[in-house]
Amino acid sequence: MRLDVPTLIACNIATLWALTSVVAVVMWRRLPPGGALYLGALVLQGLAAELALLGGVHDAWPSDLASNLLLSVGFSLSYLGLAQMVDARPFWLAVIAPPLLVAAVCLSPLASASDTAGVCNLLGVLPHLATMSVLFQRLRQRPDRPTALLATTETGIALLLGACALATKLQPLSKEPVDPRWYSSDLLAAQVLLSLHVVAVLLMVQSRALDRAEELVARDALTGVASRSCLFSLVPVLLARAHATSRSCALLMVDLDWFKRVNDDYGHQVGDEVLVAVAHAMQRSLRPSDVIGRYGGEEFCVLLYGAVAVQAIEVAERIRASIRVIPRPAHAPLLNLTVSIGIAEADPRATVEFEELLRRADAAMYRVKLAGRDGVAIDGISAVAHARAESSQAVAAA
Ligand code: GH3
Ligand code: MG
Ligand code: MG
Repeated sequence: MRLDVPTLIACNIATLWALTSVVAVVMWRRLPPGGALYLGALVLQGLAAELALLGGVHDAWPSDLASNLLLSVGFSLSYLGLAQMVDARPFWLAVIAPPLLVAAVCLSPLASASDTAGVCNLLGVLPHLATMSVLFQRLRQRPDRPTALLATTETGIALLLGACALATKLQPLSKEPVDPRWYSSDLLAAQVLLSLHVVAVLLMVQSRALDRAEELVARDALTGVASRSCLFSLVPVLLARAHATSRSCALLMVDLDWFKRVNDDYGHQVGDEVLVAVAHAMQRSLRPSDVIGRYGGEEFCVLLYGAVAVQAIEVAERIRASIRVIPRPAHAPLLNLTVSIGIAEADPRATVEFEELLRRADAAMYRVKLAGRDGVAIDGISAVAHARAESSQAVAAA
């Protein structure tokens, strides 16, 4: 059976509305960033296709103008929506210029019908090129299958629109009537590409939602450092890698001193602010390869990858110094902020369990507490370096 052009246009419209309904149903319960714009783009493209069919029947320029304009705005909305989905900043000229130029060309008395169609197709390529640029950029940063499929279909749509523009430009020169097979293949290709496009967008939305859920579990909600569950999944992997490559590691257990008093004296809100400030100060004292996580209430865990005990003492002292200079909240200018730090070193020659390392670092930290707080101690070394004595070097040498 061979389908004629009007039947194929009707099929295109039916496909568009079916895809729009699927997207609306899937995104209904939780609209992702950019989802409303993408849905709006599909609705405008459906309306544009219906108006184009109407224009073909009645040969009326107002419906041609409206259909070209709706299609162009639809492409721009699709670009904006997809840019939001991949957290990219849109290039506003590629959003605004095509619809304005389409309106100008359609209203121009100098442009023939084929000129109008050719220019509108060509202008339709612009937002697709802009979309391709944000998608390929995203792929470079974080490759995944849905984005790759989406970037491929965007490229296909841009090529198809370019080919249509070229065909409408060349056709009047040849003075031959347009082969209906060209329209048929164009319409079929458009249908296939749009269906793949929608599937890729839905897959991408799903994979982004999973990524966000993973990020939420991996980050501590208050301080933004790694969560306890992330620590327990990440640190054992790093310890195993360090052992396999004969590198040492050091674990720091950092506990804020007298933190309960902060809450009691100034309230839990100030307590929360202090926890955030301490976490940020610690982060600034570390290298990107180190891992910092919130072990419990006012206890933080730091894994110094590749560090030996002496280096760990240096980092611990850096952390203590950074916490001492944290600006105090306006209503708590005299707040006393210090930490007790316990260090345990993982011997690269032996397999060390994270729990075992934690227990040793924790025991060292409690020695600092017992000795008066505000200091550093290393597991296996009896001396404790105190703020007042500033004798870390002595501990390292002991
Ligand atoms: P020490 O020097 O012996 O460690 O004394 P401390 O007061 O720091 O320790 P303690 O275990 O007695 O108290 C810890 C306090 O930390 C009690 C709890 O209310 C507070 N805390 C735990 N999590 C949070 C939090 O998320 N926000 C706030 N504001 N306080 C918290
Ligand atoms: Mg504690
Ligand atoms: Mg404490």
